[in-house]
Amino acid sequence: MRKILLLGASGSIGSQSLDILRRDRQSFLLTGFSVGFHVEKIPEILKDFPSVTSICVRKEEDYNSLITQYPNIHFYWGDEGLREICEEGDYDMAVNALVGFSGLVPSIFVLRRDKILALANKESLVVGGKLIKRFLKEGNGKLYPIDSEHVAIAKLLSRVDINDVEKILITASGGSFRNMSLEELKNVTPEMALNHPTWKMGPKITIDSATMMNKGFEVIEAMVLFDLPSEKIEILMHDESHVHSLLKMKDGTYLADVSVPDMHGPIEYALYESKVDFDLVKANSLSELGDYHFHKFDPNRFKAPLIAVAAYEAGGDETTILNAANEEAVYAFLDGKIPFTDIEKEVERALEKIAFDKEKVSLRKILTLDQSTRRYCAKRFERR
Ligand code: NDP
Ligand code: MG
Repeated sequence: MRKILLLGASGSIGSQSLDILRRDRQSFLLTGFSVGFHVEKIPEILKDFPSVTSICVRKEEDYNSLITQYPNIHFYWGDEGLREICEEGDYDMAVNALVGFSGLVPSIFVLRRDKILALANKESLVVGGKLIKRFLKEGNGKLYPIDSEHVAIAKLLSRVDINDVEKILITASGGSFRNMSLEELKNVTPEMALNHPTWKMGPKITIDSATMMNKGFEVIEAMVLFDLPSEKIEILMHDESHVHSLLKMKDGTYLADVSVPDMHGPIEYALYESKVDFDLVKANSLSELGDYHFHKFDPNRFKAPLIAVAAYEAGGDETTILNAANEEAVYAFLDGKIPFTDIEKEVERALEKIAFDKEKVSLRKILTLDQSTRRYCAKRFERR
């Protein structure tokens, strides 16, 4: 039986992870979890999982009232608390379903303890990919991705010889505004952006999907996880989100991972450490794959993936600026401070204006650069 620490239990991936833990009490025991502001979820989670002994919340005032309410549980709070629960908690596997930069330090501390990391928080890999790879190489920790495309790629690559693969085709729905022109995008509202056509997800990733920064992050994620150069990965637009990714083989055939869009599947694949049966679909052409629609990716319409990959390839800690500026711009858009079309412009501007270091990346340098990028962005958005 695996003892589980679930970070981000109140979110979209977090609550779907709880579904899986509820269904298989033979294999999993929830010993700890974190929520952010949604502390009202704590009683219902504790009712289902009396095995929990530690909880982290985001605000100190919530912490202060919870410690008296639940004297038998060890509480933590804030970013420090997230680090401490990873450092001290009693668990074998941590599921990191936090959103944004807040997920990086927990990912690192889980791996530092040689534990298993089931990782939904792709920002960890975008910002700290090089560090995380180092920990995986030098330690005994393990990492299983949760992102559906990367679970698909892991399944696909497990059945072929990489030397027979011409390209990895990472599929993309194009998000909420995929059928709009650049001109039409100027007047879109946060409400419109939060309405994803195929997936129900948290707000940040839903906006990242609409700008397609999410796909840029996913290309970086694939490069880090599978040690691939960017030339080996191609984005393929796919309307239905049923084909989670494909391999284009050198003999001209395709191999695809196909299922309805439901994150329970990819989360399960990570929680069971890839020990899950699955079928793949082989085809001689994309049209042979069923009643699905595929289109070429248009880099003039969606610039964000190219901005992201260029930042990663620049080396050093440029992806820290990329991620922090993107997060700040996404939340500024959601708060009505900047138009949707300014998100990628603000990211580009931050990358241009803020100096980065090509030398060896360290966690301390990343934390400092993240803060200075956020201060730079906050000043720009305040002025408007
Ligand atoms: P949500 O916004 O739904 O959930 C995020 C979780 O993190 C919540 O529990 C939230 O707490 C908590 N949280 C957010 N910020 C902080 C913080 N600063 N400190 C502590 N806790 C915090 O996000 P998703 O579940 O959609 O996404 C999680 C991750 O998974 C992201 O990296 C995303 O890119 C990735 N992912 C998501 C997919 C999906 O289908 N949702 C698919 C593939 C990847 P609270 O709400 O209580 O404040
Ligand atoms: Mg994905």
